Amino acid sequence: MRLVEALCELFLPAACASCRARHATGCGLCEHCAAGLPATAMAAAPRTPGTPPVVVAGTYEGALAEALNEYKERGRRDLVPVLARLLGRAVDAVTEEVPGAVLVPIPSTRAARRERGFDHVAALCAPLGPMHRCLRARPRRDSVGLTAAQRRHAAARSLATVPRRTAVLAASGRPVILVDDIVTTGATLSAAAAVLDGAGVRVVAATTTVAAAV
Ligand SMILES: [Zn+2]
Repeated sequence: MRLVEALCELFLPAACASCRARHATGCGLCEHCAAGLPATAMAAAPRTPGTPPVVVAGTYEGALAEALNEYKERGRRDLVPVLARLLGRAVDAVTEEVPGAVLVPIPSTRAARRERGFDHVAALCAPLGPMHRCLRARPRRDSVGLTAAQRRHAAARSLATVPRRTAVLAASGRPVILVDDIVTTGATLSAAAAVLDGAGVRVVAATTTVAAAV
């Protein structure tokens, strides 16, 4: 059965990431679901103190949420163009105000990257502008069962800088826009801004594909 499914994937048009209908648009979503994607970027207001101003492409619902899940959980790289285009609207909204900014993607852990086969945020970030991969993710424990305070503490320790790359960025004086796939409490973005700030890098904003309710 698996072989049949694999052959179908090869020779039939892809299944829409949202409604699962077979289609041939080439963007991972059928025309109907693609038409329901958000039209404009919007500001989000995560509750974690120290989170930079956040602009998101949309909220975590409908075809956008389905597409992001399929991309992250099933490694559907055919969704990169449509997700990157949406994320690009959020990035554009910020770069209009901050010309010359550099994009810094929030990195996956090594374990997640190995499992997925690629770094999913960097892949979305790459087509959008000058990208500087100067953060690395520390190995994370499973956050199931942690209290909100314990989660905040874990998030604050989840990222570190890559020293040499960060020094180059700090010396350039260029402002930074953080890029991630999803924002909920803002704990990860806040942690990223804090470690970069500690290394002399100025984070002016963050952008994500979606904002999700906590
Ligand atoms: Zn569809």
